[in-house]
Amino acid sequence: MSYTLVLTRSQAGEIISKYQSYSVSHTNNYTLFRAKYKSASLTIFKTLKMLIQGTGSEELFKEICEMFDLDSNIESKKSHYQINLSIIGTDEVGTGDFFGPIVVVGAFVPKNQISSLMKLGVKDSKQLNDVKIMEIAPIIMKEVKYSALVLDNVKYNYLTRVCNFNMNKIKALLHNNVIYNILQKVDSYDEIIIDAFTTQNKYFDYIKDQKQIIENVKLEEKGENKYISIAVASIIARYIFLREMEKLSKDVGFDLPKGAGNKVDLAIIKVIKEKTERYLDLIGKTNFKNVEKAKKKDMH
Ligand code: MN
Repeated sequence: MSYTLVLTRSQAGEIISKYQSYSVSHTNNYTLFRAKYKSASLTIFKTLKMLIQGTGSEELFKEICEMFDLDSNIESKKSHYQINLSIIGTDEVGTGDFFGPIVVVGAFVPKNQISSLMKLGVKDSKQLNDVKIMEIAPIIMKEVKYSALVLDNVKYNYLTRVCNFNMNKIKALLHNNVIYNILQKVDSYDEIIIDAFTTQNKYFDYIKDQKQIIENVKLEEKGENKYISIAVASIIARYIFLREMEKLSKDVGFDLPKGAGNKVDLAIIKVIKEKTERYLDLIGKTNFKNVEKAKKKDMH
């Protein structure tokens, strides 16, 4: 059995000083440190990846996990999540849906909470159906620290039409604000990561006029697959979005479809007929092409 773990610089330093007296020489250019301890061999590469091999590997891996308050039950090989860091992750929902608000959530998952969340079935919200989201989100929301922002349709339509903001600018402002909010609840963390929707440079350009700019933020592609806190944020955001859609559907008198496809066009025609066109501003993102498409369909 072998174990791997990507270490932080300070963790690597701690391990090296603890196992210094067991160190063995190495000639490999890629290796930072090697030790033989009981019947296990420990290697730390210059990339800060740690590899533990040999019959005593399990025991040594557990010892090291204890040093850093990590849950040794999660074998990092079986998990695609980064298990070694306490991360604040953010994600958004509703940006591809004509109806309903945009919801941005920031969630904090300390490293010792990762395995219990994995047992709950946390995954990227796109891989979970709505029934599963409704089931696990309320449990998760009790267990983790999070912060949510809901941008309703009236505000969205104002920002796009009057202020001329594009979708990415709106996302960037919301992410920056939600990070500011969750930082008020979290004492210590390793990193803040946004599930990337734009580049790092453009993100900071979008928020440059803001009073509070959180600087130590990274945007990472496919973040929901790497960081459980982003997966958690996406589940909570989806849950809040679904609840908001239920409310809007109740107000309008029929189930509003998600997405931006043909069903949405038909629903727009129905809203205009049963309510008014202005009513769309209360429930939909009226700068989407769906409105024009729906009007054309209705004429045929
Ligand atoms: Mn995302």
